[in-house]
Amino acid sequence: MATAICQAVHAQSSDDGSPRLVQLTESVFRVVHRPMAANTSVVVTDEGLIVIDATCRGQGNPEWLKSELDRLYDVPVKYVILSHDHSDHICGLQVFDDTATTISHRNTRKHIIREARNTSVPDIVFDQEMEIHLGGKTLYLYYFGHTHSNNLIQIHIPEERILIAPDLAWGGTDKALVFPDFRDAHVENLIDTLGVLSKLDDVDIVVPGHMGPTTQQSFLYFRDYVAVLQERVLAELVDGATIEEILERVTMEDYSDYENYDWWLHSNVISMWDNMYRWREPAFNDAPGNYQDAYPIGFPIGDYERPE
Ligand SMILES: [Zn+2]
Repeated sequence: MATAICQAVHAQSSDDGSPRLVQLTESVFRVVHRPMAANTSVVVTDEGLIVIDATCRGQGNPEWLKSELDRLYDVPVKYVILSHDHSDHICGLQVFDDTATTISHRNTRKHIIREARNTSVPDIVFDQEMEIHLGGKTLYLYYFGHTHSNNLIQIHIPEERILIAPDLAWGGTDKALVFPDFRDAHVENLIDTLGVLSKLDDVDIVVPGHMGPTTQQSFLYFRDYVAVLQERVLAELVDGATIEEILERVTMEDYSDYENYDWWLHSNVISMWDNMYRWREPAFNDAPGNYQDAYPIGFPIGDYERPE
């Protein structure tokens, strides 16, 4: 086992752009492969391996990972953990079904089955919290409610001070727009949960959903951005602004130093508007804020007059 780990560490010294495992802590490795593609983490123990997420994009996909783990280690993959249902994070993980038990949040399994996703169908699901004990290591799996999606979990190994928190932080920096789209999100609970994760004890390294490791500070920077974006979009909605006007006015220039600002600002504003449009209570008076009379696709739903 010790020999196997040494081989993996040695591999990172020769960076020729090919996928490889890079050691982050005593037992946690990250697969370095195509930039921007979703992260894969591997927990190595004497009694077996645990694979967390995967990508089908380019090199470093699950087929490559399976052969690489077979080459490096003489223990099988015992568990596969799916962080959430978004396809770019779980694609192809059924290659480990021959030896592994797959684990996810309860809602992840429902999405995977309903939409016939190209991944491993979870064998074990949980609602709030779960522990995995393997080879002397303990992994804590948390679900803090509906945040980025209605099934996103975090994986914490306190003994090694590492937290795997896909799609709640961006890697390689602490200030970033973390994802393009709020349509699947619960914005209020996302903001609360980012605060909770920023204060979680026993964390030095945060493995985000994409790119390299970051720190808990990234949760706070993203929380600030989301909270301000929500406030500004809501203020415009209440003033009766159209989405076209909101896109012009909500420029978030004070956050232009954030990574991905040029890439995702527009999709963030549009999808936040869409989320808030559906989330806010209908206003029944003829006040300027009575923006729920029609869906943006043009079908009125605001006919509150009782039929004759
Ligand atoms: Zn996601």
